[in-house]
Amino acid sequence: MPQSSSIRHANVIWKEDTPVSTEFDDFYFNDQDGLDESRYVFLEGNALDERFSQQDLKQFTIAETGFGAGLNFLATRELWLKTAPDTATLHYISVEKFPISQKDLAQALTHWPELQQGTDRLVEAYPEPIEGFHRISFDNGRIQLTLMLMDAVDAYRQLTVPVDAWFLDGFSPSKNPDMWSKDLLQQVGRLSKADTTLATFTSAGSVRRGLENEGFSIQKVVGFGLKREMVRARCTAPKQTSSSATPWFDQPYPTSRPSHVVVIGAGVAGCSTAYALAQRGVTVELIERNADIALEGSGNQQGALYAKLPVSHNTQGQLHLSGLLYSRTKLQQLDPEQQLWSDCGLLQLATNDKEMKRQQSMMQHTSFGPNVVQAVDSQEASTLAGNHITAPGIFMPYGGWVNPRLFCETLIQHPLINLHLNKEVTSLEQSAEGEWQLQLAGGKPIFCSQLVICTAAEAKKLPQLGHLPVKPIRGQTSLTTQAEPTLKTVVCGDGYISPALNGQYCFGATFDLHNLSLDIRQDDHRDNLYKLRAVLPELAASIAEDSLEGRAAYRCSTGDYLPITGPAPDYEAYINDYAKLRTDRKWKFTDTPPQHLKGLYLNIGHGSKGLITGPICGEVVAAGILGEPFPIEKSLLDAMNPARFIVKNLIRKSI
Ligand code: SAM
Repeated sequence: MPQSSSIRHANVIWKEDTPVSTEFDDFYFNDQDGLDESRYVFLEGNALDERFSQQDLKQFTIAETGFGAGLNFLATRELWLKTAPDTATLHYISVEKFPISQKDLAQALTHWPELQQGTDRLVEAYPEPIEGFHRISFDNGRIQLTLMLMDAVDAYRQLTVPVDAWFLDGFSPSKNPDMWSKDLLQQVGRLSKADTTLATFTSAGSVRRGLENEGFSIQKVVGFGLKREMVRARCTAPKQTSSSATPWFDQPYPTSRPSHVVVIGAGVAGCSTAYALAQRGVTVELIERNADIALEGSGNQQGALYAKLPVSHNTQGQLHLSGLLYSRTKLQQLDPEQQLWSDCGLLQLATNDKEMKRQQSMMQHTSFGPNVVQAVDSQEASTLAGNHITAPGIFMPYGGWVNPRLFCETLIQHPLINLHLNKEVTSLEQSAEGEWQLQLAGGKPIFCSQLVICTAAEAKKLPQLGHLPVKPIRGQTSLTTQAEPTLKTVVCGDGYISPALNGQYCFGATFDLHNLSLDIRQDDHRDNLYKLRAVLPELAASIAEDSLEGRAAYRCSTGDYLPITGPAPDYEAYINDYAKLRTDRKWKFTDTPPQHLKGLYLNIGHGSKGLITGPICGEVVAAGILGEPFPIEKSLLDAMNPARFIVKNLIRKSI
């Protein structure tokens, strides 16, 4: 929960080069043989060497309590790279309530020069202490780390996909009784399946009994070094997952792993989805109706990389922040030279009283450090921007701009992505066997079993998706080479402007609910210039309105301003199965799993936030199709679930 985040860095002290947690009065690891201990307790304890080496292994999921200095993670990474097939993906999920600082992390890991390569990437991509899920990709996607910065129980409640092996770490139960709670062990049970294994350094009776209650068979074995005993366990009686209170949001779990997926639409959402699938070894046919990629909503010269921080926690703010952090990490990885983006920071200016009050209140409530957000007066804003600014505001060093088209081009530079241009899909039909047939405007149909629709508001034209409340909203940006290219940060007021790219400024954009033409309108240029004048008067004064060029496109908006991402619901089946909601919104549907249009997924409705929500939603869709752990919390998945509108409308009795 970003705004009310209780996450803060751990208070680490050093005893002869070894980090000690003052919160728990314990060492993070043993500096003499900590790596051997990690290998013995957790890696051997879960028989990972043997399990990673299986020829047909496709994916493996490890979940840990207490990330600490990441030693277990780095030891596991090393073993994975040595033993697992090149094409398999390791998901390593860990949780940390008191993350150590980046500096402490780097210092702690100097103990293990043999882990240097992994350490470098970990230190480089290590997140700020921002509550929520942080996904970091290692080794060209072969290893995905999901670091959940929050309390262990809260974090594991937000996971849905079962785990293959558990590392129960996190200081001893006597020093950290709160973590080793019955609630935590219940989550371990809920997320385990037959033959899930578990290892922990402790053999405390309460932990053993708790695990037995959750269906694990316990084996006490000799501990590491001077420790007498530790526990290895195997899930032999998996818990039947109790039916959820909101079954309509349950996502289908794939019975097999598809090798081919069709993605329709080559904008940021489609290219991100194609990228996420290809990274996982799936061949993608990317279908685009235009003669090139990113010619519609993703075709502006520059887009702001930007999350508006809410005054108090809300789902949208949380998604935007997670998405911004994910997009940044991805851009840093794909384009470290910053040819197609810039992390120049972003000023959000308060151009009216309402926004001023909102920002003041946000700054009072926020626990984010200055790396995430700082209040600035107009003088400081002017210095940061390198231009005269008249309003105070907030500065977000994490913001910046992206060239969406180049971003898309980079994402689809992958041997497993086949791009098909000038192919317009006009209808879909599914056979009784589940195969989809895609009719094209001219040309032979395409057949597939899995497809993802990333065509923004056009999706609604397909009869199966006609129920989705998406709307195109026209926006015009203005372009000029007239002004001196001196602007150093993105500046947002009622509109936004990025630093000049190749000597050209791009600013805007208008927001037009009624006019759906794509003509370039002089009134819109005037409107953009007017908004620019309110924040950067001198820059605006150097631009002649009649010199402006422009571009108009549609954003795809949804009623609740959240994307539509996930499996496509079977509309009729939902209405029949959940009809009781019309008379009783609290009705318990004990045995009513949701019906989806098998193999059909959506990634649309990104509004003007596609640069921060498109990429993370691509990951979400790929994870759903392949049955992998999701990169964001279940609460966020539910908020974006394509079926949410049907459920809301049933409750409202409007359908
Ligand atoms: N696994 C780590 C490694 O390989 O470096 C060492 C873990 S360290 C011994 C224990 C960690 O658990 C600490 O970083 C601590 O902050 C974290 N922790 C303790 N209680 C927690 C809780 N309730 N939720 C999440 N993390 C917790």
